[in-house]
Amino acid sequence: MNMPSTPPAAAAHTVGVQAGELERYLDDLLQSARFRDYCPNGLQVEGVRPVRRLVSGVTASLALIDAAIARGADALLVHHGYFWRGEDSRLRGMRRERIARLLGNGLALLAYHLPLDAHAQLGNNAQLALQLGFSTTGTAGENGIIAWGDIECPTPQAPGSVGEAPSMVLADLARRVEVRLGRPALVLGNPERVVRRIAWCTGGAQGFFETAIDLGVDVFLTGEVSEQNHHLAMESGVGFIAAGHHATERYGVRAVGEHLAQQFGLCHEFVDIPNPV
Ligand SMILES: [Zn+2]
Repeated sequence: MNMPSTPPAAAAHTVGVQAGELERYLDDLLQSARFRDYCPNGLQVEGVRPVRRLVSGVTASLALIDAAIARGADALLVHHGYFWRGEDSRLRGMRRERIARLLGNGLALLAYHLPLDAHAQLGNNAQLALQLGFSTTGTAGENGIIAWGDIECPTPQAPGSVGEAPSMVLADLARRVEVRLGRPALVLGNPERVVRRIAWCTGGAQGFFETAIDLGVDVFLTGEVSEQNHHLAMESGVGFIAAGHHATERYGVRAVGEHLAQQFGLCHEFVDIPNPV
């Protein structure tokens, strides 16, 4: 679904592919034009050579740029690029350093934000669901940015439990999230609440908690948390898990990078620059 026709991958391996061609392919794949976003999606900074080596990562920080340069990359693919709406657009300080490092090394920067969150197979929500064992039933919110479905539970083994709907409590789910994402999660709500149906949205989607509650779910999972989320969890009885902005958004860009590598015969590496937030 939404997969553009396959380009000649074998031939591309030695000669590389223009970053502009990757942009056109990704715009089509991720349906970029459908999104009203906070930043431009696509090729944000042009490189100087065809792309053979691609590095992907969550945020185009200086550390990720340096890691890409150290690996001999021709292009960097990220979820969090530059030129955010409302941001100071002058190239000073940190912004100057990052752009200077990209230009100085001829490295192309491709960035996809909301289109990369929402893609039904390769997007952040879909890929996080694979990591955490959620089955997707539907989506909500503008451009389907919130996913909802069921929490996959281990089949009950105990005699007499056959036919019982498998379930877990909020504390069990929190443990699963912490183990699979490798970091502590902040959990709001009654830890003994039975949770079956869940809504989730990677990154900083704590403002969608009320929308999730309206979906009738037992728990909402996102990356970040705000003060009012506590009161909303207490007064609605719906659980809330903040599992980390960075931690929940590592999987979409990696999946898209792997997909590009297959389609165009590129060398690809996902580089995780740890971020505790
Ligand atoms: Zn994000």
